[in-house]
Amino acid sequence: MTKILAINAGSSSLKFQLLEMPAETVLTEGIVERIGFSDAKFKIEFGDEEIKVTEEVLDHTKAVDLVMNALVDNNIVASFDEIVGVGHRVVHGGEKFAKSVVITPEMLATIEELSDLAPLHNPANITGIKAFAEKLPHATAVAVFDTAFHQTMPEVSYLYPIKNELYKKYAIRKYGFHGTSHKFVSERAIELIDVPAEESKIITVHIGNGGSLAAVKGGKSIDTSMGFTPLAGIMMGTRSGDVDPAVIPYIMEKEGLDINGAMDVLNKQSGLLGISEKSSDMRDIEAGIAADEKMSKIAYDLFAKRIADYIGSYLVTLGGADAIVFTAGIGENGPEVRRIILEKLAFLGLTINHENNNTRGKEIEISGPDSKIKAFVIPTNEEIMIARDTFSFLG
Ligand code: AMP
Repeated sequence: MTKILAINAGSSSLKFQLLEMPAETVLTEGIVERIGFSDAKFKIEFGDEEIKVTEEVLDHTKAVDLVMNALVDNNIVASFDEIVGVGHRVVHGGEKFAKSVVITPEMLATIEELSDLAPLHNPANITGIKAFAEKLPHATAVAVFDTAFHQTMPEVSYLYPIKNELYKKYAIRKYGFHGTSHKFVSERAIELIDVPAEESKIITVHIGNGGSLAAVKGGKSIDTSMGFTPLAGIMMGTRSGDVDPAVIPYIMEKEGLDINGAMDVLNKQSGLLGISEKSSDMRDIEAGIAADEKMSKIAYDLFAKRIADYIGSYLVTLGGADAIVFTAGIGENGPEVRRIILEKLAFLGLTINHENNNTRGKEIEISGPDSKIKAFVIPTNEEIMIARDTFSFLG
């Protein structure tokens, strides 16, 4: 058995899972949050145990120390040498990476160059890669890109109808994100439907705090709702999704904001939070509706409409669909949201099994037996995908 770490490093957090491969058994998982602060929070779970610690963690190197020492101190591994692979989530692979790669100094330099396209994400991912390379120099390090799955999109999906010189000079195009999740749930859906994989047409709906849809034909992404950045597409927790770009200079002028201020409005003050004027969390929106708050209801309906509209668009892109798959925080745990979206598709002969739909957090078919299009909830598992790809590189 081979032990592999799956790592998701953010600017102030480090999420980890230790898996035994190829069995895909999760030995332990946890998170370090508030990296950079004197009261960082560290949590690790293994078996029935959970340890929580608050202590100073000023950088990612210290966070990695904390994680690695906890693995040895709690006898989860006997020594660091037992961990032979470390898979890292990397948000942006640009046009350079259509699949996962072993991280060599050259690859790392390329990932660093791509920070230009993802200034909030790639630098944090790189910090995690470097911190683990120091601690586990013997382990094979692998980068798994959020954008890679969508590199199969054709030009008519990824090009924006803007001056082509901008694409040629700066690679301004649609990249798409959440690729690891769209890949995982679409692969699983293909196993669940009675259609040959190469003919399959799946629409994947990843809705959590961030959200995106993908049109997956024959196992390949042919379109997705996020774009050049993760701001595009459907309405999200705090992100607007698609708006007329001319809104940006108008907001700047009227509110006296610079470009960062205007982007902050669209990235952090919009979406469910912006419309409800209350919260970005779907649970709070549902509580608001129960309390008869008008703007919570409008936020909810707008959220569902924008997702249903994208599904409609992808039904055209795919020429129909065998299955629609819901995943991530809201997709897995929001029966009401799923119901409202799926009811908009009743005219296509899609029916709902309401009893099955009334469940949370587990894989289940939620369409009725007579439904023309199947619908599923499939919990996503990006860590398993990271571990699988990492394992594939270990001779
Ligand atoms: P994620 O980014 O995938 O962790 O998803 C976070 C989102 O999932 C939050 O907006 C929550 O509102 C939503 N969520 C989590 N649990 C539930 C639940 N029981 N009911 C409705 N929404 C939920």
